Amino acid sequence: MDKMVNIAILGSTGSIGRSCLEVIEKLSHRFRVLGLAAGRNTGLLEKQVERFKPEIVSVERKEEAEALKEKFKGSSLRVTYSQEGAEEVAGLNENDTVVSAITGISGLRPTLAALKAGKKIALANKESMVVAGPLIQKKVREFGSQIIPVDSEHSGVFQCLAKEKLENVRKVILTASGGPFFRSSSQEMMNITPEEALNHPRWKMGRKVTIDSATLMNKGLELIEARWLFGLEPGKLGMLIHPQSIVHSLVEMNDGSVLAQLSPTDMKIPIQYALTYPERENALLPSLDLTQVRSLEFFEPDMDKFPLLKLARLALEEGASLPVALNAANEVAVASFLKKEISFVEIAEVVSEAVESHKKREISDLDDIFSVDRETRLMTQNIIKKRT
Ligand code: MG
Repeated sequence: MDKMVNIAILGSTGSIGRSCLEVIEKLSHRFRVLGLAAGRNTGLLEKQVERFKPEIVSVERKEEAEALKEKFKGSSLRVTYSQEGAEEVAGLNENDTVVSAITGISGLRPTLAALKAGKKIALANKESMVVAGPLIQKKVREFGSQIIPVDSEHSGVFQCLAKEKLENVRKVILTASGGPFFRSSSQEMMNITPEEALNHPRWKMGRKVTIDSATLMNKGLELIEARWLFGLEPGKLGMLIHPQSIVHSLVEMNDGSVLAQLSPTDMKIPIQYALTYPERENALLPSLDLTQVRSLEFFEPDMDKFPLLKLARLALEEGASLPVALNAANEVAVASFLKKEISFVEIAEVVSEAVESHKKREISDLDDIFSVDRETRLMTQNIIKKRT
């Protein structure tokens, strides 16, 4: 039998983290949880510790760390906290694989810590690729680490490209479900509540990515993510609306063949693939029944109704600091929408205003990224303040 694979999960109480633990539980003959990093949901983290018995956990703040230490007094569990804590979990010596599933730019430093430790990374934190793609690729080469995408579309592309030469790829198309408002009129979109936006028709996901799916920003971020994950020129990247969410991506080759990856709409599939790659394991999920799905539809996105997609396309082509500013403005605007400070359509308005005011500059290191991030967050908060 192969040796047990040790896994650390960054963002263990989030949607991807929880699905990941479900996969690990079913494949417990292969995988062992060594470390967990979470935010403030210590109630769930406690249950995960009891069930999976990791050696180390990290939480966001000292208070929660103290409470956990008290709770597991007498056990060998190490409890740490803050960004450094998550980085420690990511870089653990005995770790083989790190699942990077913290949402937003907060996932960047822990992802880099895992890269520098030469780990295999199952990457779900798309924002880190968006803001630091070139830097991450450099670190991958430098430290001999490996990134396997968890995002369903990128997992699909990764699988389609497995035996192909990149130079033979003509086009890569990511599909988007279109979110809950794909068929809504611009008028109907004026009064969308967070509850409606959080009600995604196909995927069960975390709050931030669900809102990003409703604005189609998620697809924009994924195009930028794909550029760096696969080393593809922006001109080779495209997207289509595919409401059934069965075909996750399409890869057109230079000889006219189009490869596609299909599966039932369940994140456990790409998560499991990222963990078992390059092997596969049986999954206890029902097979895809295309006679039940019956029709697979594809549409061009309406760029006027979903302006963030257009903006992301610009950031994809322009590069430099633009994706960083776009991501920061979007994180702030989405959080503000969820707090009901701004309306759904204002997310795009606020982000557009922030990105237009941003002065594009080159990015050479992590400090540059965080300085653009900070600056754009402040700017976006001011734009929101002026509106409310
Ligand atoms: Mg996705």
